[in-house]
Amino acid sequence: MFSMEYGEIHEMIRQTARDFAREEVAPSVIERDINGEFPREIVAKMGELGFLGMMVPEEWGGSGLDCVSYVIAMEEISKVDASVGVIMSVNNSLVCWGLETYGTDEQKERFLRPLASGQKLGAFCLSEPEAGSDATQQHTTAEFRDGMWYLSGMKNWITNGTSADTYIVFAQTDREKRHKGITCFIIDRHTPGFEPGKKEDKLGIRSSDTCSIGLTNVAVPPENILGEAGRGFNIAMESLNGGRIGIASQALGIAQGAYEAALRYSKERKAFGRPIAELQAIQMKLADMSMKIEAARLLILKAATLKDKHETFIKEAAQAKLFASKIAVEVALEAVQVHGGYGYVREYQVERMLRDAKITEIYEGTSEIQRIVIARELLKAL
Ligand SMILES: Cc1cc2nc3c(=O)[nH]c(=O)nc-3n(C[C@H](O)[C@H](O)[C@H](O)COP(=O)(O)OP(=O)(O)OC[C@H]3O[C@@H](n4cnc5c(N)ncnc54)[C@H](O)[C@@H]3O)c2cc1C
Repeated sequence: MFSMEYGEIHEMIRQTARDFAREEVAPSVIERDINGEFPREIVAKMGELGFLGMMVPEEWGGSGLDCVSYVIAMEEISKVDASVGVIMSVNNSLVCWGLETYGTDEQKERFLRPLASGQKLGAFCLSEPEAGSDATQQHTTAEFRDGMWYLSGMKNWITNGTSADTYIVFAQTDREKRHKGITCFIIDRHTPGFEPGKKEDKLGIRSSDTCSIGLTNVAVPPENILGEAGRGFNIAMESLNGGRIGIASQALGIAQGAYEAALRYSKERKAFGRPIAELQAIQMKLADMSMKIEAARLLILKAATLKDKHETFIKEAAQAKLFASKIAVEVALEAVQVHGGYGYVREYQVERMLRDAKITEIYEGTSEIQRIVIARELLKAL
């Protein structure tokens, strides 16, 4: 039987993240969305507060907290700005987790410590122009010559792409072995031949920084291989299993933010002589929104708790991500409707939340891929 612990520490994390989001993230969120400006100072402060390496043990510069704490902080920060949420999620789930799980002590000292303590920022480079949902189709290659690996190819859609310092990069080292010939490398941003491209102009999460990355004969020493050669695909998939809990929490935050805005507005806005909150049609919407959010939160807490207990959580993480991203889009859309015409303009913020919500159905595995993952796990259990 599933049971979870939600204690004082979790309430403390929620309050700290909520205060931080209100005081530091909220004031410039509209401008950042308009300008597509990367929130450098906010990210630095998140590092100081320990939000960038939340689950990394303190001995490696992290906060030593559990996954439940992480999803709570992700929700609170994404409630105010989902762009900041995804920056945090990539660093925690896709970069620090892999380094902590597969890194040597030397790699942890060099790469994990500065990433977990917020002195540096990480990026995760799996997707390519022709390798998205089917990540086995890596065209980036790494060749071993004279004691060094040389990487060439192109990565696509990389979050933190122009702003990161340390990149986790997947490349094909033995094409004949197909996905069993993919290897994971740790690359410093300033390595010659490593070139982040121009930032994408996106529908949502506009102040997060997404770009392609060109690699031309990028020389990487063997000691920068993460895990063993040929284990890269497994590392990528395991990272994404955990990453999905983070993206589910990002989606939950967006939904909660949109719901709270709709609730507030419905009490202020009058139509036909009374607040629209007194109209049953609006009440139905609010009731459905709150129910969907609560259900998503419980799925996320379940996946996070299983992860904390070192039990298998692949199905639960995919369910949480699939459901939370779906309801984030639905709730944000309803929040726009509750606002009427005001919902359609930037000032009221729910239009941004709707634009931000959509990406949660696409990255770290589209909703179609989540269904495949869930079905595979269900059938395995037979
Ligand atoms: C803003 C943004 C940030 C991102 N950040 C990162 C990052 O930091 N690192 C990184 O590596 N990647 C990142 N990505 C890439 C993202 O993970 C991919 O876009 C996603 O996995 C989908 O791949 P694709 O775009 O190639 O779509 P495709 O794989 O081409 O899919 C197109 C459509 O076909 C469907 N489809 C594909 N295969 C199947 C199937 N077997 N069954 C049913 N339907 C299927 C998909 O669900 C989708 O609807 C990011 C993307 C965006 C837009």
